[in-house]
Amino acid sequence: MKALKCRECGREYPLTATHVCEFDFGPLEVAYDYDRIKRSMTKAAIQSRPQSMWRYRELLPVANDPTVGLQVGFTPLIKTDRLAKNLGIREAWVKNDAVNYPTLSFKDRVVSVALSRSKELGFDTVACASTGNLANSVAANAASAGLKAYVFIPSDLEQGKIVNSLIYGAHVIGIKGHYDEVNRLCAEIAGKFGWAFVNVNMRPYYAEGSKSLAYEVVEQLGWRVPQHTVVPMASGSLLTKIQKGYQELIKLGLTHETEYHVHGAQATGCSPISVAHKAGLDFFKPVKPDTIAKSLAIGTPADGFYALRVMKETGGAADDVTDGEIREGMSLLAETEGIFTETAGGVTVGVAKKLIASGKIPANDSVVLCITGNGLKTLDAVNGHVGKPREIKPSLREFEAMMAQEEKMAV
Ligand SMILES: *Cc1c(COP(=O)(O)O)cnc(C)c1O
Ligand SMILES: [Zn+2]
Repeated sequence: MKALKCRECGREYPLTATHVCEFDFGPLEVAYDYDRIKRSMTKAAIQSRPQSMWRYRELLPVANDPTVGLQVGFTPLIKTDRLAKNLGIREAWVKNDAVNYPTLSFKDRVVSVALSRSKELGFDTVACASTGNLANSVAANAASAGLKAYVFIPSDLEQGKIVNSLIYGAHVIGIKGHYDEVNRLCAEIAGKFGWAFVNVNMRPYYAEGSKSLAYEVVEQLGWRVPQHTVVPMASGSLLTKIQKGYQELIKLGLTHETEYHVHGAQATGCSPISVAHKAGLDFFKPVKPDTIAKSLAIGTPADGFYALRVMKETGGAADDVTDGEIREGMSLLAETEGIFTETAGGVTVGVAKKLIASGKIPANDSVVLCITGNGLKTLDAVNGHVGKPREIKPSLREFEAMMAQEEKMAV
């Protein structure tokens, strides 16, 4: 790490808990000394390290060895032939962060970085504004690190996401409003309480954690950048950091310069970024979210502008899917590959299907789908849409009668 640097004017700031430029309010981003990193970060060195996101630690913003979330990352990259066939594409891969450690979403990556850095900067209390998964991850990782945690969520979240924060003993505050209101309140609280808000004053460090997903995909593909990557978008941060990750590996000579496209996926009920992209605009119009994909329900996406730029620069597309299509996407991934993803994953699968059908992702190419969360946390979204178990008495005769009836119905 060299400094924090404004994305707009390039002014540099010391590596403290701060996130906006004083001159133009541009977001700050971590800058690195790549010449120095190049010397220690060889493929052989990386491959000799433990299988976690921290095997790329030179490219992650901590000064010393990480102290929180040492097991996070290096989730499976699965070649999904049955899904590919169904989507109508030559080759598809699933990057499965639904099984990330410890809280079953990609957010463990960003939190592991943010909390490690928070400890380095001397904080004893961490906090976040969350659409659910971030709250789960902050609560769990803070518990394991002995930090106090305050997590702020919209009060209408799925039960699974709420219980998954409470169980760790975090202070869970439900705000009667949507995420954008939660976020605005948290910006005020962050200014007053002197806590490490992982996605407010710690955002420059936090956001860098997402790059590890890109590094892993490249390494797991045999040091190759995929032709197409489909990424779900809430604030748009993950999408921009996946591109930054690919660019860094190219810059460090760890993979070849090739053509690649980063595509963005949203729910139709909260699609400010995909609507702007489809209209050819480089700015978005804020919306009021109304979708079952609550983890993606950010109506005023902080990195929307930069996400639009990344899609434009990489020749990527964006699209969005309805609640029905989200459920279909979840079922498709489950039925073809045995992977149960949350609503955000249904968005990714549904949008990938649309982009392949329309030729925006050519059928002869290869695509990586980013599956970012676990279906066990959003049972409410599919309960009542996946059928019901057949109930019979514990009797062979009843079972045979049931089978006979099923056969008749199948004819
Ligand atoms: C937070 C989240 C995302 C995307 O987050 P960004 O704000 O765009 O970085 C994607 N999927 C899941 C499941 C999430 O929780
Ligand atoms: Zn600036």
